[in-house]
Amino acid sequence: MPALFLKPGREKFLQRRHPWIFSGAIARVEGEPQAGETVDVFASSGDFLARASYSPTSQIRARVWTFDPREAINADFFRQRLRAAIAARHALFPKANKTQTALRLTHAESDGLPGFIADRYADTLVVQFLTAGAEYWRETLINLVAEESGCARVYERSDAEARVLEGLPARSGPLRGDPAERVTIAEHGMHFIVDLARGHKTGFYLDQRENRLRVGALAHEREVLDCFCYTGGFTVHALAGGAKSVLALDSSREALALCREHIRLNHLPQERLVLQEGDAFHTLRALRDQGRSFDLIILDPPKFAPTAAQAARAARGYKDINLLAFKLLRPGGLLVTFSCSGGVDAALFQKIVASAALDAGTEAIILERLEQAADHPIALHFPEGAYLKGLLCLKR
Ligand code: SAH
Repeated sequence: MPALFLKPGREKFLQRRHPWIFSGAIARVEGEPQAGETVDVFASSGDFLARASYSPTSQIRARVWTFDPREAINADFFRQRLRAAIAARHALFPKANKTQTALRLTHAESDGLPGFIADRYADTLVVQFLTAGAEYWRETLINLVAEESGCARVYERSDAEARVLEGLPARSGPLRGDPAERVTIAEHGMHFIVDLARGHKTGFYLDQRENRLRVGALAHEREVLDCFCYTGGFTVHALAGGAKSVLALDSSREALALCREHIRLNHLPQERLVLQEGDAFHTLRALRDQGRSFDLIILDPPKFAPTAAQAARAARGYKDINLLAFKLLRPGGLLVTFSCSGGVDAALFQKIVASAALDAGTEAIILERLEQAADHPIALHFPEGAYLKGLLCLKR
């Protein structure tokens, strides 16, 4: 088997079970591993450290499959990992449930499956291969995940930008069982249409499931601004929770069209919803200039900083929208603000929101900290897995 030997002193991360091996830590490569092939990883002392997949074009040159030298990387290995991941989800949702039909079954590194995502939308699986290693085992993983999940329909959405860094072309389309392009799911009893072919990520932001429920419970009698609403996950739950009105804002016309459909699908009062297409940075300013105000504002922007290198630029973006949101909030109003940037951690995000409040001339308190739903787990040794952080703030 091809092998990677690390530079002296560079084995510490792996000894702490962190699954990434950066190119700068590697002293030499033995054999000629092809993209995605399995390699053994050794410390400079020659001690075995891990078995990993090789990514020749990425800065993250290899990702660990196992730390156990006795474990071979083959179909059996992947079947065990998939079973463990699916069993964890069954523990979360013990009974099949008509009010909850969409779930992330595997969350890449956090489930010991770097680069592999599988989301279940009702009877259809959407799979995503994000790394050379996951791509190498693509056929095996498709067959196994279909078998282990019992889903006969499989759709592929390997068109995430992360694939560029891995030297992989974008690929998407139906794989098995003739899946429909639009699937209806239930989330906490609300129904949503997921556009498997054109939706963001694998079609829907499953990671916000519990936070939407929270917003639904807080929205009663409030005037709500759902900024970066996508297809209206928060909007639907806010209206179901008795919001007086919702202004839902996004730059994507297709997303807004689906948001409108979701209001009908869930028999919610259409007259309480206004959809606005546009750039949030401009629109928030325009709302402020018009003297508008709200009782509950949700800010759920796209990733401004995928990595730490872009953190400074991202910080300016987060500060700008949070500052405007504080200005648009009435005293006693609630701000539910998120960052899904890997490069901005929870502590930095809190600092940014604090400085936004300061510059807006407002005082606020944190009522709750919010995070990704539990089907997007965080491996203890992979803190990067905690990508979604949110604050529920009250403006005094
Ligand atoms: N809250 C949503 C998910 C939001 S994802 C949910 O619960 O499903 C981020 C959204 O921001 C996307 O829908 C994207 O179209 C939108 N977006 C990206 N840049 C934008 C901008 N500058 N102004 C307004 N919307 C933007």
